[in-house]
Amino acid sequence: MPGGSLGAVTEIQRSLVLLKPDAVARRLTGEVLRRIEAKGYTITALQMRTADEALLAEHYAEHVGKPFYPPLVEFMSSGPLVALIVEGYRVIEGIRTLIGATDPTAAAPGSIRGDLAGDTGEKVQRNLVHASDSPESAEREIALWFAA
Ligand code: UDP
Repeated sequence: MPGGSLGAVTEIQRSLVLLKPDAVARRLTGEVLRRIEAKGYTITALQMRTADEALLAEHYAEHVGKPFYPPLVEFMSSGPLVALIVEGYRVIEGIRTLIGATDPTAAAPGSIRGDLAGDTGEKVQRNLVHASDSPESAEREIALWFAA
């Protein structure tokens, strides 16, 4: 099997998914949820909220200080977004495949970004969806967005 880590995935995983403010503003919430469910994943929690800077600083901790961070926070706090917990077998990798590459222009046709996110010049951040990149990130992000 390709990818040495494949054999290590034995359990149902969880991913934290955000339908970013551009997805909500463009009324693509239903379309993105449809694709996630059609793939066979289960949405186990869902909330709409507007994120503040403190939450985004924790969510994007690895990007604080990078040149694209201030405009990214401005965009991510610009309006309501939808946060989800999605469950399924190998969902971490699967959701990221469903979403496509970070840069919408490079994202494959058939992916959410490839089909639905246009080229917005230098604003790579308007790419509709976030999904956790590892099981560790997923648990950290779920605790952040779905704190009791
Ligand atoms: N981003 C950006 N400029 C860049 C790289 C990333 O605005 O040069 C934004 C973009 O919205 C991306 C987010 O920062 O989705 C997080 O970046 P990451 O590399 O983690 O990409 P992702 O995991 O979201 O594909």
